[in-house]
Amino acid sequence: MGVSDLGSIKNPGYFMFLNAKTVHFANASANACIDEPSSGLLYSRHSSKPSTGHSMGSFQFCLLGSGSSGNAALLVSDTARILIDNGFSLKQLKERMAMLGESISRLDAVFITHEHADHVRGVGVLARALNLPVFMTAGTCESLPITVGDIPNPVIFEAGDRIRIGNLEVASFSVPHDAADPVSFTVSCNGCKVGFATDFGKPSQLIKTRLSGSNALVIESNYCPDMLRTGHYPPQVQQRIRSRIGHLSNQDMCALLDSLWHETLRTVVLMHISENNNRPELAHAMAAQALRGRNVRLFVATQDTPTPVFEVDT
Ligand SMILES: [Zn+2]
Ligand SMILES: [Zn+2]
Repeated sequence: MGVSDLGSIKNPGYFMFLNAKTVHFANASANACIDEPSSGLLYSRHSSKPSTGHSMGSFQFCLLGSGSSGNAALLVSDTARILIDNGFSLKQLKERMAMLGESISRLDAVFITHEHADHVRGVGVLARALNLPVFMTAGTCESLPITVGDIPNPVIFEAGDRIRIGNLEVASFSVPHDAADPVSFTVSCNGCKVGFATDFGKPSQLIKTRLSGSNALVIESNYCPDMLRTGHYPPQVQQRIRSRIGHLSNQDMCALLDSLWHETLRTVVLMHISENNNRPELAHAMAAQALRGRNVRLFVATQDTPTPVFEVDT
């Protein structure tokens, strides 16, 4: 990604560390194995040796675009490439990845936060084109819009499960949102952690706990309460957005950032900015104030173009 070729290994194998009792491995022909019983069951789809997760290498991420018209984030290590959500058409996804020198053919898996169209619109076409495993909760899988079509290789997990793709450890957690079984993720690699949280109305204690210690935070900053109140949205829609299972306001984003700040938080990316009820520069100014001049890279993701590629470091 970017200027450096990280030498991705296709199909690094993926493994599910089970916190919950049951995980259904959707592909019955998959090569499942049990390893490290102290960590719980460890499933491998591939016959390749499990990664130890301790190899050194870069860990980078980029938001390919964010907003109510489409969301997708790319996370890359030296042994794995994953997407979180894909609300873009195949053409758009290819174009956006090409801007980073990336190709969809190098992707190893897609993780889905929830079934709203701006997060899944392009998942079916992508999954069918590459026979890509799509990780999601059962509720999300059952609630996918019909337009997504068949997912040839779905992998169902429960909120709270941790899944390993190469040397990326993807940990899921529940978020309050008006969807069937929405989750967000942290992704860790080589001792560095990205906390990713979008589409939730209020930051629960669980969200704070799971995001704590992140070296990079990708956080929703959806709306300005004043712009929402004085805008053209009907009262019921305003109420839905404002509710605990709606979206995160600029103010709540700031409070969350303040509570999550620590010495090795290096990067903050604000995402899912409402086109109608927010302005990127407003969200940026408020986050900058919340961070109070601390030495943190702050960036606002937009709908139309990918963000820069951010290195995750401590
Ligand atoms: Zn959304
Ligand atoms: Zn949503």
